[in-house]
Amino acid sequence: MKTIQHWIDGSPVPGTDTDTAPVFDPATGAEQARVVLGGAAEVDTAVTAATKAFATWSESSLTQRTQVMFAFRQLLVEHEQELGRIISAEHGKTVDDARGEIVRGREVVEFACGLGDVLKGSFSDQVSRGVDVHDFRQPLGVVAGITPFNFPAMVPLWMHPIAIATGNTFILKPSERDPSAANFVADLYRKAGLPDGVFNVVHGGKDAVDAILAHPGIEAVSFVGSTPIAKYVHEQATTHGKRVQALGGAKNHAVVLPDADLEYAAGHITAGAYGSAGERCMAVSVAVAVGEAADGLVAVLERKAREVKVGPGDRPGTEMGPLVTKAAQERVENAVATAATQGATVVVDGRGLKIDGHENGFFTGPSLLDHVTTEMDAYRQELFGPVLAVIRVDTLDQAIDLINANPYGNGTALFTASGEAARRFQRNVKIGMIGVNVPVPVPMSYYSFGGWKDSLIGDSPIHGPEGIRFYTRPKVVTTRWPQQNHQVTAGFAFPTSS
Ligand code: NAD
Repeated sequence: MKTIQHWIDGSPVPGTDTDTAPVFDPATGAEQARVVLGGAAEVDTAVTAATKAFATWSESSLTQRTQVMFAFRQLLVEHEQELGRIISAEHGKTVDDARGEIVRGREVVEFACGLGDVLKGSFSDQVSRGVDVHDFRQPLGVVAGITPFNFPAMVPLWMHPIAIATGNTFILKPSERDPSAANFVADLYRKAGLPDGVFNVVHGGKDAVDAILAHPGIEAVSFVGSTPIAKYVHEQATTHGKRVQALGGAKNHAVVLPDADLEYAAGHITAGAYGSAGERCMAVSVAVAVGEAADGLVAVLERKAREVKVGPGDRPGTEMGPLVTKAAQERVENAVATAATQGATVVVDGRGLKIDGHENGFFTGPSLLDHVTTEMDAYRQELFGPVLAVIRVDTLDQAIDLINANPYGNGTALFTASGEAARRFQRNVKIGMIGVNVPVPVPMSYYSFGGWKDSLIGDSPIHGPEGIRFYTRPKVVTTRWPQQNHQVTAGFAFPTSS
């Protein structure tokens, strides 16, 4: 059986720890590989390599660094299909969906290619007589990224292109459930001309994470995953004096007003709810039907949920693949059962779905729950599966209050034909990313991605301008070049400009 190794200092390494974890093919349920699980020793080896590489990489020119990014971007284009298949085989999502995440991740590389523009400092001439001020930003050193299973290419790509282009060296600790994409990307960086040690991958679980959080040689940690772990990472890493960005879980509401085009809204909500089997942090998990929109909306959602084509991710025409693990499949199916006992109407029941030839795959079909209330577990928990809950309210303001009372604040959407309603909605919801007639409003790479409340711990969203800020430190320089024979007297009072 194949063993997936760490990638340290430019090549695969087995590490010293003999522990491994299974990597499944979610479409068949079969174990297809083992991944090595690193700990303190592997993290330390990676930090040593990354520290050595930082000495030269941080001194390389902006042009040298962006040239590597241009080459890396081109390799991502050329290998999109191959990488998409690797992701699909371990995650379960369709190959087209996997290619979509590669494209959205590649956009961050494109942002990094233009670093020369966004990294420009400012200059103030003659702030005092003969005195100028300018600022510039420098890299931090060795930085680390800890990432979730659901976007094994895109989420790390939110981090490392910006970290590396700004002159840092990087250690990625990807999810142990779908680890191969990280090594594939490491090899693309090598082919793009990135020096050894600038990008490293340490595989593992909690031991590897804890070693990263405590290692004195790591300056900053980027984390994306569930909220409890985001809180843990934020607390531990800040305790060890590191800069941290920590993005957590979500419960995303799509509000449908009576003036919305129901066919359009339901189509987009269906794709947002069941795409990638609901395993997206921006998945639509709650449809909030306002007033008389409700019955019509549920009728169209039901029809569309029944039409979703479920199957293995590499089969042409499949719209939704299996869940990532058997445990995830069981968790989602139990949640549907609990919703029924708590009083929700199970309009479409995805439980027990069997796909011919893939009877042991981790499949569950789309489920649609109506008459869900805020007390039910199906509303209170992040199910992270293909379950859409419908909540009925009377007014837009009630919908806004509902969203604001939810502990998560990642994404939300409003379907309406009213500009006034859209404006009121976007100004009043306590949510980081908002779509107006757009169900999954993931920002472009030159904006930053991040939620509010329990969806973002700390204060740093990811990529875009916030990414540049996160991976660099500013310096402000005040300069005077005194003219010969020109007297500048030194004063003992605190200096002010004149
Ligand atoms: P997870 O929190 O279980 O794992 C994320 C990372 O943390 C993995 O690398 C994992 O190995 C590590 N980890 C897990 N348990 C740990 C522990 N006890 N101690 C230390 N490290 C640990 O998340 P997941 O199941 O891989 O991904 C799904 C979650 O990620 C969902 O909650 C989803 O909403 C969230 N997510 C959020 C965003 C966002 O941008 N806000 C994006 C993608 C995913």
